[in-house]
Amino acid sequence: MAGIVVVFDFDKTIIDCDSDNWIVDELGLSQSFKQLLPTVPFNSLMDRMMMELHSKGKTIEEIAECLRKVPLPSNIVSAIKSAHSFGCDLRILSDANVFFIETILEHHGLLDCFSEINTNPSLVDEGGRLRIFPYYDFKASCHGCKICPPNMCKGLVMEKIRSSLPARGTKRFIYLGDGGADFCAGLKLEEKDYLMPRKNFPLWEIIRSKPELVKAEVQEWCDGAEFQRTLLHLINKISIEENCRVESDQLVATDCKSHTSSVPTLEHFQSALPVPY
Ligand SMILES: [Mg+2]
Ligand SMILES: [Zn+2]
Repeated sequence: MAGIVVVFDFDKTIIDCDSDNWIVDELGLSQSFKQLLPTVPFNSLMDRMMMELHSKGKTIEEIAECLRKVPLPSNIVSAIKSAHSFGCDLRILSDANVFFIETILEHHGLLDCFSEINTNPSLVDEGGRLRIFPYYDFKASCHGCKICPPNMCKGLVMEKIRSSLPARGTKRFIYLGDGGADFCAGLKLEEKDYLMPRKNFPLWEIIRSKPELVKAEVQEWCDGAEFQRTLLHLINKISIEENCRVESDQLVATDCKSHTSSVPTLEHFQSALPVPY
C-alpha cells in the first residue's frame, strides 16, 4: 500500500530502550556522561563519549557488538516486516545516529524495510573513532523550535518528508513515537493521519494535556504486542478506506460497506496482513 507512509521514532519506540543510554551504561561511560550532561548538548556529548571509548581502546566492532544486544521485541520485528511486505513506505525519524540505528536494524534483518533514515549523521574516522554529528549545524543557525533539541527539529523533518513525496496530497501518515520531540512531528499530521504515542511516555502525556493541538487521530500503544496489533489494524483500515475512495471516485461503487465483489474486504487485508488479536 504505497499510499501509506509510516514514520517511526527509534529509541523507546522500535527498540525498548534508548540506544545512547544503552551504550553509555553498557560500556562504562556513566560517570563522565553524568558530569558533562548539564553543560554539553546531548548530541555533542555522544560524540565526546565515542572519543572517550576510542581513547580506552574500544573498537568500532565492540561498539557494534554492544548495539546488537539492544532489546527489540519480536512483535515489533514482525510488525515492521508485515508493513513493509504490504507495500507501506517506512521511514525512521530519530535523534540517535546513523551508525547505532543501521547496526541494530541490520542485526534484526530490518534495514532493507526502510526507505529513509532521518537522523544525526555519523562516520568512522581514519583513526577508527566513531564520530557523531548534529542533523543541523546548530552553531551556524538555529531552527527556532522550542519543543526540539538544537540539533534536530522533528517537525521540520516531517515537513521535508511530506514535501519530498510524489502525489503528497494523497498520502496517509502513521507516526509512532514516545518523546517530547515526537509531539513536534505529530503537529505536522493532518486529520486523516494517525499518531501512535507510547502510553505513559512523554508524547502521550503531552497529547493528553493539549489534545486540541493534534489534528490526527490518536491511537496509543504500550508494548510490542500492542504496537503490532494497532499498527497493522490502522494499515488495514486505511487500505480499505483508500480502496473505497478510489472505487468511489471512479463511480464504480458508492457504498463501501455493501460492496464486496471487487473492493477488497477486511478479510482480504487481514489475510494479506495478519492482525493478531
Ligand atoms: Mg524515542
Ligand atoms: Zn520541533
